[in-house]
Amino acid sequence: MKRAAQFRPGKAARLVVKVGSSLLVAPDGQVRRSWLETLVADIAARHAAGQQVILVSSGAIALGSRRLGLAKGGRSSLEDAQAAAATGQILLAGLWAELLGQHAITAAQMLVTLGDFEDRRRFLNASATLDRLLQLGVVPILNENDSVATEEIRFGDNDRLAARAAQAGSAQALILLSDIDGLYTANPAHDPTASFIDTVPDIAAIAHMASAESASGMGSGGMAAKVEAARIAHAAGIPVAIVAGQPDHPLAAFDASGHGTIFTAADPKRARKAWLAGRMQVVGQLHVDAGAASALGSGKSLLAAGVVRVEGDFRRGDAVDVLGPDGRAIARGLVGYDAGEAHAIAGKRSDAIAAILGYAPRSAVLHRDQLVML
Ligand code: GLU
Repeated sequence: MKRAAQFRPGKAARLVVKVGSSLLVAPDGQVRRSWLETLVADIAARHAAGQQVILVSSGAIALGSRRLGLAKGGRSSLEDAQAAAATGQILLAGLWAELLGQHAITAAQMLVTLGDFEDRRRFLNASATLDRLLQLGVVPILNENDSVATEEIRFGDNDRLAARAAQAGSAQALILLSDIDGLYTANPAHDPTASFIDTVPDIAAIAHMASAESASGMGSGGMAAKVEAARIAHAAGIPVAIVAGQPDHPLAAFDASGHGTIFTAADPKRARKAWLAGRMQVVGQLHVDAGAASALGSGKSLLAAGVVRVEGDFRRGDAVDVLGPDGRAIARGLVGYDAGEAHAIAGKRSDAIAAILGYAPRSAVLHRDQLVML
């Protein structure tokens, strides 16, 4: 089937799975543990098959409000939501760690705020941490740091957070497990003529269709947030599927049936490059030797040893151009060091760098995930 070829989460080396509050927590505030065990079994199967999985899990506010006995699911004031999140997050993380641990998988918790993905330096930090965790065979579990994030700087929903996590984690697919099986032309709860949308090749055409209401009333996402998440992911060339999360083994069920709404991404590699290039205003140059130039050409990161000269006044996370021995720009990316540091370590081998900097060095001056060849 053509559509299946456009979204093959099984083939993605890195996959982000977002789990909503209403899937994890029943209306009475109890964890849906036996369902969660089936999802964890699906994740363990993918992990065993060599796929790297990043989880974005909601549910902190829902769990915490139950523990604290707060009205309206902890959402009647920001203070309540923040107290509920602080209380629920520790339960949520413990739950994932326990259930993944039963499959001998180590879980790691990352609590992030909007700024962690918007600010270039922090984006690089989050990205590098995700990369390292995945290399170590760990399943990172992300949620918004709701207990400190203030209203103006919050994601507020984990759908968009998951899309940003997919960008930061250089993932090839994003699955939003939802309380509904996908996108409809109208809200099917109110409109009997609503019809199911199987594939969305043009995100701009459907933006008006999604309602901000969450079917369960428990999460804060709703379809509008999911469409917005798909738009963010689309910009970076990452296909997205909105899939029914309620059934047991939801990932395996989706693999078997293919039922869900798929937002295709045209030419993922080019889109990711355009996305990276589009967020950059170049403020420096790194001149590299022929060896480094050819390493970059074959998809490797740029190491300090290959840098012969550094120009410009930049900070970690700023955009720089890489110039080959003939002075032509060959690549552009988000630099891993401030200009002064880059200067100090240029031409130095990795084992000498720690002594020069006085701290444990980054793995590269320009990481391969953060650069585009020109
Ligand atoms: N971060 C919130 C929580 O863990 C959920 C946000 C959402 O509903 O998408 O409770």
